[in-house]
This record gives sequence, C-alpha cells and structure tokens, in this order.
Amino acid sequence: MPFSRLGLSPAVLQGVRAAGYTDPTPIQLRAIPLALAGRDIIGCAQTGTGKTAAFALPILTKLAHHGKLRALVLEPTRELAAQVETAFRDYGRFSDLRVAVVYGGVGYGAQEKALREGVDIVVATPGRLLDHMRSGRCRLNHVEVLVLDEADRMLDMGFLPDVKRIIEQCPSHRQTMLFSATIPPEIVTLAQWALKDPETIEIGRRRSPAETVRHALYPVADDQRDELLIELLKRTDFDSVLVFCRTKDRADHVAAMLHRTGHSVAVLHSNRTQSEREHALRGFREGRFEVLVATDIAARGLDVEDISHVINYDMPQHAEDYVHRIGRTGRALATGDAFTIMTAEDKKQVHAIEFFIGQSIPRVKLENFPYKYTTLLDPEAERRMRTMGRRRR
Ligand code: AMP
Repeated sequence: MPFSRLGLSPAVLQGVRAAGYTDPTPIQLRAIPLALAGRDIIGCAQTGTGKTAAFALPILTKLAHHGKLRALVLEPTRELAAQVETAFRDYGRFSDLRVAVVYGGVGYGAQEKALREGVDIVVATPGRLLDHMRSGRCRLNHVEVLVLDEADRMLDMGFLPDVKRIIEQCPSHRQTMLFSATIPPEIVTLAQWALKDPETIEIGRRRSPAETVRHALYPVADDQRDELLIELLKRTDFDSVLVFCRTKDRADHVAAMLHRTGHSVAVLHSNRTQSEREHALRGFREGRFEVLVATDIAARGLDVEDISHVINYDMPQHAEDYVHRIGRTGRALATGDAFTIMTAEDKKQVHAIEFFIGQSIPRVKLENFPYKYTTLLDPEAERRMRTMGRRRR
C-alpha cells in the first residue's frame, strides 16, 4: 500500500515525497487511517519505527490550513521535541500550517514570540509548556488532537503529574494518541483516563514473521535466475515451497521449468480459472504439489499452513509485499526460511525492504555453483560503486 492510498492530503503527500519516503512503515500503515478517522490510539512502538510520521502526517492532513492552536504533542526531552518539530516542518512544508517548539533550558523570548504570532501545532516538554500556560501565553482550549509521545519515558522522568495537568486544560472532546515503547500499569491508568475507546497498535512487541523467519538473499546474474532456483531447491530440505514471481508469464515460465526438472508444481495467478485455482490450492494443501508458484495478487489471503519456505524468484515491487509474502511461512511454528534471488537491478529495492523490516538480510553464495560474473558478487566493484555514489551525492 503506497502513501497515496492512506487518505493523506495532496500537500502532505508532497511533503512525504520530498522527505524521500516511498513506502509507509508498518506503524504508519496501521496508524494513519485510524488517526484520520478520528480514533484514539495507543501505539506500542519504539523510535526508529517511523512513529513520528505516523501521527504527524494525519495531524497535518486534518488541520489543513493555518488557524488556531489545534494540535499539541508532548515529549519527554528537548532533543525529542526539537526532532519532532523538525519532522512536522518537513512534512508540512507545502502547507501554511505553523509549528512551534517549547522546551526548558533556553530563554522564553523566541517561544513567546512564536506563540504570540499564532501557531497550529505545539511540540512541547511538559514543564515549560505549563509555564507558558500559567502566564496566559498558551491556551489549549481549541486543541483537537493531543499526542502523548514516549509516554513511558515521561513517566520515568516524573512528568506524569504535569502531563495530567496539561491534559485537564485540553477540551474533553478531542482525539488523543499515546505512544510508548512499553506499557507499564501507570501508563494503562493514564490511557484509561485520557483516551476514549482506543485502538491499540503493537509494532515490534509481538514478533512479526519478519523477525522470526530466517532471511537470505542470493545474489546472481540475471540470466542465472532459473539455474539458481533449481539448485536452491535441490539443496534445500523443504516440505512445501511457495515461489513468488512478478508476472503471470514469469510464474508460468517458472512452473514449467520446475515441472521439467521433476518437481510436482502448481501455479496460481489471475489468468487461471476458478476451478484451476482451487485445484492448485487443494493439491498444495494436501501435499500433492510440493511447489506452488504464485504472483502477489493471487497469493493475497492465501491460507495454507506449514509452508516451510518462501522463495522470491522476483523481488516484490513494494517493501510491504515482502512482509506479506514471507508472512505465508512461519505462521504455525514461527520459523521458516525466506530466500530471495537478487540481481544487480534489485539493489534499491533490497535496501527498501531492509529498512522496512528493520534488519539487514545476509547475502548467501551457494558453494560450487557455476556463478557468472556480476558486480553483486564482486566486493571490489561494490566498494567502488558505493564510493562513486557517495561522491555524486
Ligand atoms: P521515528 O521512529 O519517527 O523516529 O523515525 C525513524 C526514522 O525513519 C526517521 O529518520 C525518519 O525520517 C525515517 N522514516 C520514517 N518513516 C519513513 C518511511 N516511510 N520511509 C523511510 N524513512 C522513514
């Protein structure tokens, strides 16, 4: 799912593009539609998951144009507050919305000036915000969206009483989003008091297939893709394998090739009739076919237990599809193998996937396989290209 399908405004999408993001991260995928729908959210997520954009993008979309102070984000430290303010500015640079940051340890002048001139979003640490509230420079009576970011750290730092005082000054009819890496009992109590019918999103706590599955990339020259796939199957002790291809034609090609090499194969794509598809699926489920070759669309919602291996003959088009694909393995036992064939053109996509799943995937070479030359297998060429890339930048 690309950013453009999440319901964000054109101006915000432009900001996202300018930030260089291509695919939403898991927390963004889940939180953005809920936030846009006005739901209260508890997000269990650490920094590094893209949680700032998960709340900032819907806020910018909802506020749309300059007006009153309508969004307040509380942060435990000035560093975080400054970071989050910068993120709002970056994503919102194609709108006329104004954001101010408020934290202690610095003079009041610049913060007072910003508040006086009128802002739509305030990112603040609790103590200094209370100072501005007490002196009447900051009023929260028009706040529509409140974000309590890094709530567990605010608790650790003893800020909860201040946080509560601030929340009491916000209208009770508002949307509240609470983000926290952990949810100790005090945070549960706070959430029960401050949030209404919240939706909980857990990212990174319950381990996803992306974490439990063993990943491997198999770099190879493009014209050795078939050979490598055959060899991989020969050397793998598998129960059932799902092979993913980019197009129907490629899926047909791979199925025919595997059939010729003695595998029992079924193929699943949208050109097949309903009865052909059912036949393929039933046969695969019952173990009559050991390999199922499929395209992404055909495999959506596919419910087959005990797939031991997923092999990406082609790289998925979107990083998110990688997770869907490997989610097919590792379901019951929470283990499994995901092999991905990689050619020189796939490098950008590999980086996108590695970013998306938050880990780098080991590159594996098959021993005694008659590899042809590709820069991917040549560490010296790789190093040269990286240096050239850096120089260009
Ligand atoms: P956060 O968890 O909000 O601190 O974000 C961690 C880092 O990921 C920041 O440097 C963001 O700029 C970056 N980031 C957030 N969302 C995306 C995305 N969808 N694609 C690429 N980078 C992202």
